[in-house]
Amino acid sequence: MNNVSSIIPKILIVDDFIDNLRVLSQALDEQGFDVRCAKGGAMALNSLQTTKPDLILLDIKMPEMNGYEVCQRIQADTQTQSIPVVFMSALDDALDKVKAFEVGGVDYITKPFQIDEVLVRIRHQLSLQTAHQEIQHLNATLEHQVEQRTALLQMEMVERTQAEQRLKESEQRLDSILNALEEVVWSTTAPAAVSVIGEPDQTKVLYLNKAAARIYGRPLAELKRQPHYWLNLVHPQDRNRVVQEYARLAQKGSVRMRYRIVRLDSEIRWLKHRSQISYAPDGTAIRIDNTISDITVQQRIEAQLRHDALHDGLTGLPNRTLFMERIDQAIKHNQRHPEDLFAVLFIDLDRFKLVNDSLGHGVGDHLLITIGQRLQTCLRSADTLARLGGDEFTILLEDVQEMTEVIQLAERLLAELAHPLTLQGQTLVVGGSIGIVFNTSGHDTATMLLRDADIAMYRAKNQGKGRYAIFDQVMYDQTLKRLEIESDLRQAVEQSAFFLCYQPIFNIQSGQLYGFEALIRWQHPQKGLVSPADFIPTAEETGLIIPIGKWVLREACRQLRTWQVQFPEIPDLKLSVNLSGKQIQDPTLLTTIDQILAESGLDGSCLRLEITESMLMDSGEDSSHLLLQLRDRSILLSIDDFGTGYSCLSYLRRLPVNTLKVDRSFVDQMTQDVESYEIVRTVITLAHTLGMTVVAEGVETAAQIEALQDLDCEFAQGYFFAKPLQQQVVEAALERYQAQGQWIPGPVQCVSPAVTHLSSNQL
Ligand code: C2E
Ligand code: MG
Ligand code: MG
Repeated sequence: MNNVSSIIPKILIVDDFIDNLRVLSQALDEQGFDVRCAKGGAMALNSLQTTKPDLILLDIKMPEMNGYEVCQRIQADTQTQSIPVVFMSALDDALDKVKAFEVGGVDYITKPFQIDEVLVRIRHQLSLQTAHQEIQHLNATLEHQVEQRTALLQMEMVERTQAEQRLKESEQRLDSILNALEEVVWSTTAPAAVSVIGEPDQTKVLYLNKAAARIYGRPLAELKRQPHYWLNLVHPQDRNRVVQEYARLAQKGSVRMRYRIVRLDSEIRWLKHRSQISYAPDGTAIRIDNTISDITVQQRIEAQLRHDALHDGLTGLPNRTLFMERIDQAIKHNQRHPEDLFAVLFIDLDRFKLVNDSLGHGVGDHLLITIGQRLQTCLRSADTLARLGGDEFTILLEDVQEMTEVIQLAERLLAELAHPLTLQGQTLVVGGSIGIVFNTSGHDTATMLLRDADIAMYRAKNQGKGRYAIFDQVMYDQTLKRLEIESDLRQAVEQSAFFLCYQPIFNIQSGQLYGFEALIRWQHPQKGLVSPADFIPTAEETGLIIPIGKWVLREACRQLRTWQVQFPEIPDLKLSVNLSGKQIQDPTLLTTIDQILAESGLDGSCLRLEITESMLMDSGEDSSHLLLQLRDRSILLSIDDFGTGYSCLSYLRRLPVNTLKVDRSFVDQMTQDVESYEIVRTVITLAHTLGMTVVAEGVETAAQIEALQDLDCEFAQGYFFAKPLQQQVVEAALERYQAQGQWIPGPVQCVSPAVTHLSSNQL
């Protein structure tokens, strides 16, 4: 749009009368207007096509087209309709004026005109026009601004809607995440006093997810109305603790608790609960967020794990760990009440291994369960019965008034254990041995008490099983000694500190040398010669007897073979080797013997193995199988120390035993004591009845030899002939025996622990 003030206004004068055109144009020109002239309507309209004037002075009366029509045409054209048209006419008539305004004119000048009037009117119209244009411009600007503002608002609206949408989506996402949680999320407003719960207050639930309905077993809507519903369900036993802990929330800002709830359907669940306060910038509490998870399964697993860690899987009884804990508690109690007495009993079954090995582990397990139940029936509910493992049970008796109470209980337990029981159609008597220790010293530890009860149990076992023993200091000293021997023995095995002695055995009917018994000796670096009676039991308990026994067998076989080669004229020399119970139970024994026989080149028939009656009975069916295998190798078998153990005669009859060795204790007394004599006689008769021969052990006098000869005893060994001799001494004697056909004992060649070391000149 033109700015009228800054540009020279253009005026178009339309008149058919040339003089008018001239006068007017001249006058206006002088006033600085840019003047155009048209002699008629057509010409005027034509010029408007190219140039747009700021004002038109239009004559009404014109020959080919009057001013009204010209004005109407101008008004009809949108390009020109805004140009103000001022009519000029001599017709000073009101109707003409009305018409002039009707067709769109803005003013009317009557001819003949005064130039000044024309100028005033023109200027007036131009200023109106300018004002009009400015208004239009303003309007346009305004409109533009409104448009812009509207667009802005629309944009804001869109953005706002989008933001709201995004917020809604993120809330939905959060909601679906929270609802998918296993944990309850329970947000409430913070009550004025955070610690006061359960009382009517203004607390409101702000958020509660679906997990709550699952855990509490109530509809979500119901829970949302009760900000403290979770507390209503807390188990009565946990309630005080929970209320106290929650009361600390205001002070601590967050608390954690574990507790049980009892739901309306009576189900008990374990929950883990964390409460945390959210604060406004000014420090006031605005919200409490509770996260609550159901840990019932986890708690159950933990409880099971705790139980399993403290109980024996087979019998369900407390295990060693729990038992030791209970003793510890008893000791602590005892420190506060020194007058109170308690006792620890250690029970070991006497023939469990036999049952387990011969009837199988299934029966063995069943037996242990039954024994556990039986023992339990003898106890009070406050007593603790535990299974330490294997066939070892222990009992802690608290609140003991008198020692006799414990002894009476031990007797009841032994009677219970000795009572036959039937398992899978088999009637069994296992029996047991019990060690008892009292807390009388006052400064014992659980480990010491259990160890002492164990020591006492060993004593009971060694005294013949099926009995109890009460721990005392002597036992302890003996145990220490045993431990010392054990550690020394280990070294001895490593350092090969053993050697063999040989005690000759004679055929007392013919006077011929029959063979030897190999007897082990331990040359201890400090103690000198140690008797096998002192270390063989320890070697058996520790299992060291296996390597030791192997060495004895190898050394004995090697030695006999050497002598056979060295003294070929002495026929049929035999060598007896003692076997321990542990060796009989060793599944590799046969292979070991085969190996040793093969490497020494000794014939099996020259080897005689000595085992005791109780070893045979203890190892049961296994041993009869082993003995048959030995017989297949022509190896001979003796029952050592016969008469001191217990034998089942029918069993003995079935076994491939060649010889019974009458125990030294009977031979020793046989010439003074009728009973001993009778026993020796009976054993000899029994042996002969069963097709066995007899060796009398420990023969020391000629009178004994005579008596034995009268009883048709075949063989004898003892100090009467010779003590156990060292290899070199035997060789010297064998040389003489080969040369003279007679055993001539040399000087005292004993290598017995009862006698001090041999000096080299004795050899
Ligand atoms: P045992 O097999 O009954 O051996 C006989 C024991 O009686 C030997 O004691 C021997 O020295 C002793 N003795 C022999 N004649 C007489 C006598 O006239 N009077 C007296 N008072 N004693 C006599 P030792 O050598 O002390 O052996 C004791 C036990 O140690 C043996 O009794 C045997 O059971 C065991 N033993 C010895 N060597 C071995 C071995 O290599 N392996 C195993 N497993 N046990 C062995
Ligand atoms: Mg023997
Ligand atoms: Mg013997």
